[in-house]
Order: sequence, then C-alpha cells, then structure tokens
Amino acid sequence: MLVPMRVILEAADQFSYGQPAFNVNSVAQIKAAIEVHEQFRSPAILQGADLANGFMGGRVDFANSSLEDKKRGAKNIVRGVQQYGADSDIPIAVHLDHGKNFDSVVAAIEGGYTSVMIDGSSLPFEENVELTREVVKYAHERGVTVEGELGILAGVEDDVASVSSTYTHPLAAIDFFKKTRVDALAISYGTKHGANKGKDTVIRKQIPIAIKECMVHEGIEGFLVSHGSSTVPQYIVKELLDLGSQLKDMHGIEVDQLVEVIQFGINKINVDTDIRLAVTRNLKELFQKKKALQASQSIGEIYRSLEDNKEAFDPRIFVGSIMDVIMHGGPAEGDLFEVISAIEAGTKEAVGPLLIDFGTLGKAPLVEKISLDEMAERYRKQGI
Ligand SMILES: [Zn+2]
Repeated sequence: MLVPMRVILEAADQFSYGQPAFNVNSVAQIKAAIEVHEQFRSPAILQGADLANGFMGGRVDFANSSLEDKKRGAKNIVRGVQQYGADSDIPIAVHLDHGKNFDSVVAAIEGGYTSVMIDGSSLPFEENVELTREVVKYAHERGVTVEGELGILAGVEDDVASVSSTYTHPLAAIDFFKKTRVDALAISYGTKHGANKGKDTVIRKQIPIAIKECMVHEGIEGFLVSHGSSTVPQYIVKELLDLGSQLKDMHGIEVDQLVEVIQFGINKINVDTDIRLAVTRNLKELFQKKKALQASQSIGEIYRSLEDNKEAFDPRIFVGSIMDVIMHGGPAEGDLFEVISAIEAGTKEAVGPLLIDFGTLGKAPLVEKISLDEMAERYRKQGI
C-alpha cells in the first residue's frame, strides 16, 4: 500500500537499517522496482525528480518541462505505482526528488505523491527556512512527508548542479529542523551528485553523527538523507565500455562506505545513476545480441539514438520514440516487449543488491501502515 515516507524512515531509524530511494522514469521501472522490493519484502521509496515528472508528462526534451508537463507526469508516475503497488503488502512511498519551488510541490501532491522534497539549499539560510516552512505547512495538512536540504553537494543530477560543495553545519541543521518542522533533511557531508564523483570520496562522518546526537538532546524526531549516493558499479561501467559507450571517470560511492554511514545516522540513501547504467547496458546489449532489432519499425529508433549518443547513459535520451508505453505502461508486444524486458531487468539488477547490502531485506513488516489522512491527523495533534 501507499504510505507517507515518514513511517518508512521511522522504521529505518528505529531498527538501524538503511532505506534506499530509487529514481524512476518509466512505468517499466516502477513495475520492476516494486516487484523486487516485494520479492525481498522490503519497504520501498520510489522517487521522481522534478524533471522526471516533466519527462513522464510526455516531454522528451524534459529540461524544458512546463508546470503542466510536470502535473501530467506526476499523475502518470502515481498511476503506475498504484497499478503495481496499491494492493501490495509492502509499504511504498512516492517521493518528489529535488522539488524546485512551491508549484512543483503542489503538482506532485495533487498528482498523489506521498512525500516531497523542497530543495532550497541554494538559497540563503533564512530564505531556505521560509520556503521549506511554507511547504511543510501545505504538505503536513495533507499527511505528506517533507524532505529539505541544507548544505550544497558538488556534481550534476538533472538540473541540480554545483561545482563546489559546502558541508552542512550541524548546528544549522538543528536550527533548520526546529524552524521548519521538516521530517527529513538532505545533508552535504562528502557525497556528490552524478556518475563522476571522483575516486576515493571522503565522507565526513562527523557531520551526521553530530547532527543525530544533537537531535536526541533536543528531542527532534527527524531523519537524515544522503544524496549523490549512487554506487556506479564498475562491472557495469566496464561492460558499457566494451559495448562502445564513451564514458569517462565513472566513480560512485563504495557500497561499504554507504553501509557504514547508516550506522552514523543516515536513514535514506538516494540512488539514481545505478539504474540508468544497468538499463543503458541492457539496451545496448539487446541490439548487439539481436541485430535484426536494429532495423525494427517499433524500436529501431532506440538503437539509432544509442549509437548517436555514445557518451550518454540516461535511458530517457534513448526512448523518446516509445513514450506511450514509457508513460503509461500496458502490454508490450513483439520487439517492444524486448525493450521493456531490458528496462525491467536492469532496474532489478540495480535495486536488489542494495536492499541486501543496506539491510532493508525483510523489513516491510516493521513499517507502520497508515494513510495520508491518518498522518495528517497526527501532525495536527502535534501542532506541526
Ligand atoms: Zn539529490
């Protein structure tokens, strides 16, 4: 069933395991991600970034998404999650990743998202507080969870870009939780967005440890989020290179480092790039193994796009010619079935191992199953 993200993070915090959150950009990915979470009896957080909503609204050039595109896309994502997850035994949250402004948040919540991020991290502290507080008020009245961000991560992810990182000041994080009543906070402590994190990322574990310790003393019940935490599996990078991809300096965060930060107080770990890489490899492999598909009427355009964009590994770039099935799912036949199967298999390969590594395996029954209405009532009673 669909639940507010807060109850999923409460269980992760209480029982000291990590909760990965995966970005999805097609109904096929949603279906595959839910299936593997179910198989591993794990709670699930599926997230769509602001521009992913635009893409899922039919905007192939998603960087130019309008608010209308985002509204349509949010509905398509939620419809996909409901189709495969509404009757599921596992708790599932649908979360807006990097909501840009109040309008994006409203589009997501009206579309049925159970959680939203408002990223005011590029604003001065007081303006970030003000924007986040406004979102918290709107979202909590509807039982929807809110994630904020404080501190700036280096790297690129959709249109979230920064050349330098500014670590989160632990005392500012405490102040931010108190002033905004936000449920979760993304912190900057050494991780980076994108697939080029550089070798040997240095994680400043003192930052989450200090924040979590102060939260205990101050009686704040909130959760910490690690962005820019894709692992960029090196075997997939190698396979992509062997298939002709032109990729450079592909490095993620070591899985061992992520497992460690869970013990430092990180509750939610965002993973996007890993799925992109596995799906892109599967698509390239499909056209190499079954050469007749290269000239297929229904999917040949995908092959040409892969060939024209050898430096790319974002599946959204390649699948513009099959948007109907990307946005709405539904039965895929013939050659199209081959592509959808490749997308599903890549998603499962990226998701499954992390559910085991982070200790999420088998934890679905630990999550309190409540509706958004019940959550709204709880916030109201607590005055937040
Ligand atoms: Zn992020």
